[in-house]
Amino acid sequence: MMIHNFSAGPCVLPKEVILKASEALLDFDNGLSLIEISHRSKAFVDVMEKARALALELLGLEGKGYKALFLQGGASTQFLMVALNLLEKRAGYLNTGTWADKAMKEAQIYDDVYEVGSSKASNYNYIPKGYDVPSDYDYLHVTSNNTIFGTQMKSFPKVDIPLVCDMSSDIFSRTLDFSQFDLIYAGAQKNMGPAGTTLVVVKEEVLGKVSRKIPSMMDYKVHISKNSMFNTPPVFAVYTSMLTLEWLKNLGGIKAIEEVNEMKARIMYSEIDLNPLFKGFTAKEDRSNMNATFTLESENLKETFETMVKEAGINGINGHRSVGGYRASMYNALSIDSVKALVEVMSELEAKA
Ligand SMILES: *Cc1c(COP(=O)(O)O)cnc(C)c1O
Repeated sequence: MMIHNFSAGPCVLPKEVILKASEALLDFDNGLSLIEISHRSKAFVDVMEKARALALELLGLEGKGYKALFLQGGASTQFLMVALNLLEKRAGYLNTGTWADKAMKEAQIYDDVYEVGSSKASNYNYIPKGYDVPSDYDYLHVTSNNTIFGTQMKSFPKVDIPLVCDMSSDIFSRTLDFSQFDLIYAGAQKNMGPAGTTLVVVKEEVLGKVSRKIPSMMDYKVHISKNSMFNTPPVFAVYTSMLTLEWLKNLGGIKAIEEVNEMKARIMYSEIDLNPLFKGFTAKEDRSNMNATFTLESENLKETFETMVKEAGINGINGHRSVGGYRASMYNALSIDSVKALVEVMSELEAKA
């Protein structure tokens, strides 16, 4: 039976990527495994350089003063790394979800932080708009896609201070003018590769302006100066991410995948909107094309629905514990057929009820 993997992360990756990655585990370079050779070998240095170049190329940021890094520690380490490298006096945070909230709390350890807007009081079911961002702040931090709640920023504030964005759950999924951001970070495990590496894309000119001493491992400038090889990189995660970026490039880049992602979201949301047994959680204009959250109108059908879901090979649609209900995560590698399979179960349930 075909398995439809709607997991929120780690999540579905392209089959051909997993296949190639598994081959490299057995034989990557003259009979040696990817995970048993030196990261300083030419074969791996080429991988790292290709992954960094592909990331900038796909985002349209080549030759624009940006550097791409593949670091460790997950997106959660970026919460503090951003503050250590950019926060001198005060920074603004837009609080649109659990991850945004965590990012803000980490920054507070180092200096003053101001919440420019928040939807916490309504359990993050919309994206705050029309907030002011003082122009003397060191930076504004936003979260482009709120994985847990299923909201997504459709536009970004025009600010004249550095704009920092946690794009963990929608990077490489839609076209944007990525040059409006000065620092983008994303854990690999939602649209790029296995857990274990985090992509950081940073405009070099925003660095080196804080007065504090930054520990080497936390210092973007150190990682840039060592071409993302200050210490042993997570070779398997970087290699697999490189394969996914190659896959995306061959597909036609972000523009091509965006069309597919929009189609998947349209199919999913029209079922949620039109099927009287289901309802969404979030403001319609802020709905995420990556994570669709919804619930049953009546708990009576829960068991029937969940049995049908399981029988159809649908996996990973349980909502996050802080929201409940269901969450269909539709990352780049999830096929339209998988979305159709879920929607079919939802309409079958309607026919049955
Ligand atoms: C998953 C996620 C994180 C946390 O990523 P880790 O790599 O587990 O630290 C942060 N931000 C967003 C938006 C996420 O979706």
